[in-house]
Amino acid sequence: MTDVRTRFAPSPTGFLHVGGVRTALFAWLVARQSGGTFILRLEDTDQKREVEGSAEHLQASLKALGINYDEGPDIGGPYAPYIQSQRLDSYKQWAQKLIDAGRAYADPYTADELQAFRDEAKNNKKAFLYRDHRPENPPVWDGTMPLRFKSEPKQYNWHDEVMGDLHAGPEVIDDFILIKSDGFPTYNFAHIVDDAQMHISHIIRGQEFISSQPNYLNLYEALGLAFPLFATMPHIMAEAGNKKLGKRDGAKDVLDYIRDGYLPEALVNFIASLGWNDGTEQEIFTRDELIEKFSLARVQHSGARFDEQRLLWMNGQHIRLLSLDDLYDRVTDFWPELAKSASVDYKKHILALVQDRLKTLADLPTLTSYFFSEPSVDWTMITGNKQLGSLSRDDINSYLTTAKDALSASEFDPESVQNTLNSLLESTGQKPGILFSLIRIAVSWAPFSPSLNDTLSILGKDTVIARLQSTIDYAG
Ligand code: GLU
Repeated sequence: MTDVRTRFAPSPTGFLHVGGVRTALFAWLVARQSGGTFILRLEDTDQKREVEGSAEHLQASLKALGINYDEGPDIGGPYAPYIQSQRLDSYKQWAQKLIDAGRAYADPYTADELQAFRDEAKNNKKAFLYRDHRPENPPVWDGTMPLRFKSEPKQYNWHDEVMGDLHAGPEVIDDFILIKSDGFPTYNFAHIVDDAQMHISHIIRGQEFISSQPNYLNLYEALGLAFPLFATMPHIMAEAGNKKLGKRDGAKDVLDYIRDGYLPEALVNFIASLGWNDGTEQEIFTRDELIEKFSLARVQHSGARFDEQRLLWMNGQHIRLLSLDDLYDRVTDFWPELAKSASVDYKKHILALVQDRLKTLADLPTLTSYFFSEPSVDWTMITGNKQLGSLSRDDINSYLTTAKDALSASEFDPESVQNTLNSLLESTGQKPGILFSLIRIAVSWAPFSPSLNDTLSILGKDTVIARLQSTIDYAG
């Protein structure tokens, strides 16, 4: 086979959502696993739909996810420019080839005339086909009228790497527009010219283009081009119901997910799993494993379901896979405010303690703020607690006083603290579920905290004693 060259060809019409990322990711995986080349091309020929800033946003999103491209608008490459609006000359030249070969013609009709043809077809209960109205003597194309492809309708059977063997009859093939009256090519024309010039080997794109595929095949033939490989991605479905994923269903901007504390590798893993699996039960894949195991042939035909809870779970799993130093480097922006002045060592200790409990990096303040600032007392955490709710204030006072005295006399490394805690169970005759929960709440006032001896050891003796004392005072 020729060299693998895949491309992601978004239109800069908004932010990059999950569906777009999946197309980019699969194209990237195919290139990376075969030592091929991955290309970013901006398809900005529909200038009315263009959204300011979205080209930069697309590039930033791909970079944030580690979906790096080898050729693209901002880095150039052998087939630059990679922005369609800068390649208008090339579309004109290819259009001229088609005109010269008698395979393209100027469309002379006004919008009203076209509408009349449509209405007529409708009244006759026929599908509208432009080619039924081909002008007999079309004017010379001067660029002010649309240029249309003169199709040669026929039956096509073709293979799609994902969807399998497909076919369509001549009735779906029509004379589509190649160049619009504003001088810009249509997507239908421009992508074929570019893919040919850029030697793209695999066209990996969304399902919305599959119905146009026979028309594209007809144009490839008219241009004397060999067909590349095609791979059509099924839709991503919303979590509930049977509709396509939309913005309101959580298909938010990928950069927002990163800002919300999701790891790029978790997003990549999650997005890869939308419609793909490796045939085993494995769910967590590193980037390298995805490169090794991905295959278009294992992408499902039907819509994949977007389940944000699953993403959250995967994120927690990927957080656990990080080394402490790596995790530390990534949480810089997520510490609670007061952590800024704390020492690196102190913060790393805390991070090691909570690593297994983080579902997103943004959980860090809730899980750790009591390490950096005095927690405020919330007595309902005691009264509302199943095990502690029935304790009287006197009981609480006496347990905490016993604990305070024992801990004051204890060494404060985690092991010594554990020994002291164990001996407290004996001296008070209480269960850990009660005594340890009470101490935990009294020093943290947090709904959950990691192992008690480690927590106390990191907080340090002075803080622990002072917090126990203020809870004792509060209990009265
Ligand atoms: N510009 C098209 C889009 O954004 C790309 C389709 C393709 O990959 O060929 O939907």
